[in-house]
Amino acid sequence: MDTQVIVVGAGPAGMMLAGELRLAGVDVVVLEKLARRTGESRGLGFTARTMEVFDQRGLLSRFGDIEVSNQGHFGGLPIDFAILDGAHQAAKTIPQSHTETVLEEWVTSLGGDIRRSHELLSVKDAGDHVEAEVRGPDGVHRLTAPYLVGCDGGRSLVRKEVGFEFPGTASTMEMFLADVKGLDLSPRMIGETLPGGMVMVGPLPGGVTRLIVCERGTPPQRREVPPSYDEVAAAWKRLTGDDISHGEPVWVSSFGNATRQATHYRQGRVLLAGDSAHIHLPAGGQGMNTSIQDAVNLGWKLAAVVRGRMDEEFLDTYHDERHPVGKRLLMNTQAQGLLFLSGAEVQPLRDVFKELIRYEPVSRHLAAMVSGLEIHYGIAAGAHPLLGRRMPHLDLTGTSGPGSSTEALHAGRGVLLDLADNAELRRRAAGWADRVDVVTAAPKSLPDDGALDGTAAVLIRPDGYVAWAAPGSHSDLPMALKRWFGPSR
Ligand SMILES: Cc1cc2nc3c(=O)[nH]c(=O)nc-3n(C[C@H](O)[C@H](O)[C@H](O)COP(=O)(O)OP(=O)(O)OC[C@H]3O[C@@H](n4cnc5c(N)ncnc54)[C@H](O)[C@@H]3O)c2cc1C
Repeated sequence: MDTQVIVVGAGPAGMMLAGELRLAGVDVVVLEKLARRTGESRGLGFTARTMEVFDQRGLLSRFGDIEVSNQGHFGGLPIDFAILDGAHQAAKTIPQSHTETVLEEWVTSLGGDIRRSHELLSVKDAGDHVEAEVRGPDGVHRLTAPYLVGCDGGRSLVRKEVGFEFPGTASTMEMFLADVKGLDLSPRMIGETLPGGMVMVGPLPGGVTRLIVCERGTPPQRREVPPSYDEVAAAWKRLTGDDISHGEPVWVSSFGNATRQATHYRQGRVLLAGDSAHIHLPAGGQGMNTSIQDAVNLGWKLAAVVRGRMDEEFLDTYHDERHPVGKRLLMNTQAQGLLFLSGAEVQPLRDVFKELIRYEPVSRHLAAMVSGLEIHYGIAAGAHPLLGRRMPHLDLTGTSGPGSSTEALHAGRGVLLDLADNAELRRRAAGWADRVDVVTAAPKSLPDDGALDGTAAVLIRPDGYVAWAAPGSHSDLPMALKRWFGPSR
């Protein structure tokens, strides 16, 4: 075999996955058809959960100064995300191109083999390995590996070639996006609903303004080239009455509201992650975030299978955990689209939502949904409130090792947090020392929500989700370790 995993696509999902695989010592080749990154700003910033995910790999400092914000919305109705106690705030106005640069540098530093100007032409699951036909600078060649992951975006060739089902609804309208210099418009960060549609205005670094222009009744188009700025300015004028034709466009694009999800995220030796598995209206800034988190869920699992520590069926937990997350993403972006983009017939619903969102539990529920903090995997049975949920950040004392539960995850391995200096617990985990780090420490303080009160130990998976806790899990520690990390050595 040429490598252990072929990743198709060097977007956020492909880069994150490649980094996770390299952390686990797996050989990976990333195929990317573009000679260089597009530089497109697309996803601006990241959600609170993605901030945590980057933090748990020590990546946040690579972004430089991060501007954070608590201001968000659901379908154009404002939400103050400070309501989510104990969470990171969301990162603001970091263009996707910058996130991709940071991830690519990280993968390269870990020895990832990123092959630009390499386009996947076809893929075949040969039963005991996967064959990829690739066009590179030196012509067409074949590449083989035990597994291939399609991180090749919404129009995924991998998905089509392997025959993944991708049901859903086609786009019903076309919307414009333009990054423009030389405009002086009042910000409309969460959008402004107008009689003819909706517009959004936000500042980007370097004196650039991001415009989103959604004009109702504009039919979807399959364009071979991006729309012109004149089209965007004309739509803006029809909606707002203002002339922005003097602006200097940096990037102009169009998008739709097609909503589809692969019915399965794995077929044999081929898997999908990111936009290749789910497409939707980019409402609430979630697509890139979900794509990155797909990759973080898959990386350590695929590594365990490739390295022979787990059976191939273990990969089904990736589908089982991430497919429902994608489904809720589609649901909430569709709901937001209806609130945002529909005409006067939806105004009564908007008005009801406006009233509801004033209630704290409603606002908290929606904020948790959009920020990715609500995720709850069916990892383990038991009464402990953190089972299947993300491990909250916990500053630690009394350890010569990591200073926090977040730092303990930097290496991308499992972590057994022994909060009660329990030698018997450590003895029982000793057989997994090659995969799970034991950290004996005391918390400096406990989260306000009481989720860790009385907790003596927590087993955290490499993706930051709690697989076992004491007291409160139905299984014992060796069972949980075996379930998520394979047999002891
Ligand atoms: C207007 C707009 C605004 C958005 N705003 C946000 C936002 O604010 N927040 C957010 O989270 N998300 C946002 N998104 C969504 C976000 O951009 C995507 O969800 C994200 O890029 C998905 O990442 P990915 O890695 O799965 O796919 P992509 O970023 O599409 O990457 C796929 C890669 O695969 C490569 N590729 C494709 N086919 C092949 C092939 N055959 N061989 C080799 N390489 C191939 C492509 O060149 C590309 O580099 C927005 C999207 C749009 C359109």
